[in-house]
Amino acid sequence: MNLNVPLQQIKGIGEKTAAEFEAAGLHTVNDLIHFLPRAYEDFSHVTTIADIHPGKMTIKARCEKITTRPVRRGLRITTATLADETGKLQAVWFNQPYRETQLKSGEEFYFSGVFEFNFNKYQLTNPSAEKVSDMPVHTDRILPIYRSIHGLKTTLVRKIMNELRPLMSMVPETLPISIVKSENLVSHSDALLGIHFPEAIDDISKAKERIGFEELFALLLASQLNRIENQKLRGWRIHFDRTIVKAFVLKLPFELTGAQRRAAWDILQDFEKKVPMNRLLQGDVGSGKTVVAGLAARQAAHEGFQTAVMAPTEILATQHAQTLSTLLSPFGVTVGLLTGSVKGKARQTLYDAIKKGDVDVVVGTHALIQSSVNFHRLGFVVIDEQHRFGVNQRHALLLKSAHMPHLLAMTATPIPRSLALTVYGELDVSVLNELPKNRTPVATKIWSPNSRMQLYGLIESQLIKGRQAYVICSLIDNNPDNELKSVQAEFKRLDQKEFKHRTIGLLHGKMTATEKNEIMKRFTAGKIDILVSTTVVEVGVDVPNATVILIEDADHFGLAQLHQLRGRVGRSAHQSYCYLMVSSSKTPSRRLKEVEKSNDGFYLAEVDLRLRGPGEIYGRAQHGELNLQVASLADTKLIARTQKAAKAFVESGADLLHYHQLHRDVTQYQRLTTLN
Ligand code: ADP
Ligand code: MG
Repeated sequence: MNLNVPLQQIKGIGEKTAAEFEAAGLHTVNDLIHFLPRAYEDFSHVTTIADIHPGKMTIKARCEKITTRPVRRGLRITTATLADETGKLQAVWFNQPYRETQLKSGEEFYFSGVFEFNFNKYQLTNPSAEKVSDMPVHTDRILPIYRSIHGLKTTLVRKIMNELRPLMSMVPETLPISIVKSENLVSHSDALLGIHFPEAIDDISKAKERIGFEELFALLLASQLNRIENQKLRGWRIHFDRTIVKAFVLKLPFELTGAQRRAAWDILQDFEKKVPMNRLLQGDVGSGKTVVAGLAARQAAHEGFQTAVMAPTEILATQHAQTLSTLLSPFGVTVGLLTGSVKGKARQTLYDAIKKGDVDVVVGTHALIQSSVNFHRLGFVVIDEQHRFGVNQRHALLLKSAHMPHLLAMTATPIPRSLALTVYGELDVSVLNELPKNRTPVATKIWSPNSRMQLYGLIESQLIKGRQAYVICSLIDNNPDNELKSVQAEFKRLDQKEFKHRTIGLLHGKMTATEKNEIMKRFTAGKIDILVSTTVVEVGVDVPNATVILIEDADHFGLAQLHQLRGRVGRSAHQSYCYLMVSSSKTPSRRLKEVEKSNDGFYLAEVDLRLRGPGEIYGRAQHGELNLQVASLADTKLIARTQKAAKAFVESGADLLHYHQLHRDVTQYQRLTTLN
């Protein structure tokens, strides 16, 4: 049988079942045999009732009697008498009344659960129950449990897998044999058998090791190959002119940090090479990435190259255009802003200027990648908050140049080492691991709503000194279905009650771009004391005079997001404060405590990776496509091992085309993970 045949051709799969699988993304036999169990039920050690002793147990028995009774509101207890040839035993389920229908048939079941002393007698508590006749093979074994697909039962999936078992044992090897041998892995087909039909727990771990290795191998190979391909590209060489750079640095109102100098040096060195730069600039919030990009843009402009700076929000693009214009206009470098709000004639004029090369630095949102935008000579592309963009968007911008331009991707979301190795393995990285000298760490504290008035007192004490504050809420409007705070309601309350004597501003994503810009302008100019905002201010916004941020319903936000929000303050020499208000008086989550404890974005990213997995850090949309069923991006040991093997494979000069499956996966990943 061919692995690529549609599922409908398999015995036991009708049109309806096939459609369900289809909807879950399983189209072919190959897809299905790689659909892995989410867990196992261990029926490999079955005890007789006479032999039972406390602990986790499995028995094979029939149900003789079963009743359900309500104990109190919200609690129903189902009690059953189970029997085998050696004796009888009581089983109890809490709030699982459906057990009655399931077990009344009188058929034989495997029951697996904890046998314990409870309510003054020994009983089996909350056991799972699997019909013996549903077992694909009629031996006692470890049973896979599949993620339920729409209405399809795990028993049906098991039955189909059993149909496919002979095929699994014939599936060809997908990895190079030399690697399977040297890494001491089980073969592809043994891995499939081990994962779907394990005879011992050890089979599962061996199978998982092999599958995990393979998943990471494809990913790491892809990034190695991307790196090699990048080396072959030819771009623009931009000469590094020290007098130009020096003049720019001298004119800054501050001294660059050592880290900023090193990053700028890295970039200017890359500019001079034939191979286009492919660099990630990682720097914690407030570490001063913008000025580094500005410096490089200055050099590019001097050599007659245009720079494009793309930012994820209009607020941020507007702010960057202002900052860069201040930095660059003294040198005659022109800066243009292209966003959705630039319309009609103004837009056309800007297009023409970009095309003629009259604008040196074009700052914008996604508007930059539209087909009507044509550059005269685009030599340098900066993508701020790069994880907010998809591969295609980044790619579209790079394609606006006749030659591959130099790329600087910037992010304030630190990438843990394991991710840097895998997903971003092909990049050169510069790190701003040093904050500007004048900063004092933001003092962070968790607050309970009971002390709200006291907290407002603290905020007022900052406002009296002429500082400004943010109040962040998760909702725009009140929602009857939950009790989260909304900017509308908080704005109204603060404006009319607690901070009646102050100027309060309101900012959220449903306002028009012009309204948002107006508010940001007034806040930046110090004309608003308290800005009540949703997370639209989360990325990049820079108002150094703001020294307080109060985050309402803080437990509702992710760790990285809280750190980003906190980064809105602490941008000047003044001591800044971040107040995390919990929704209720219950104990604050681990997340909040970590944010309270640490100001270090890299440390927090590692914690985040452990608490929530890599999806949040890498970007949800993209992570879904990584298709890692077994391997974890937090498994640094396996990553290091796989990395070595992938390197060796590339160096051996082996031809990837010989390995169809691997070649397909790698090509897919290459497209997904590349920055250019
Ligand atoms: P981020 O890395 O979060 O994007 P920004 O580029 O917005 O940070 O810079 C944060 C603030 O720090 C800005 O107001 C900027 O002018 C200021 N800044 C940048 N570099 C320095 C420095 N070396 N010394 C003092 N202030 C600096
Ligand atoms: Mg920034």
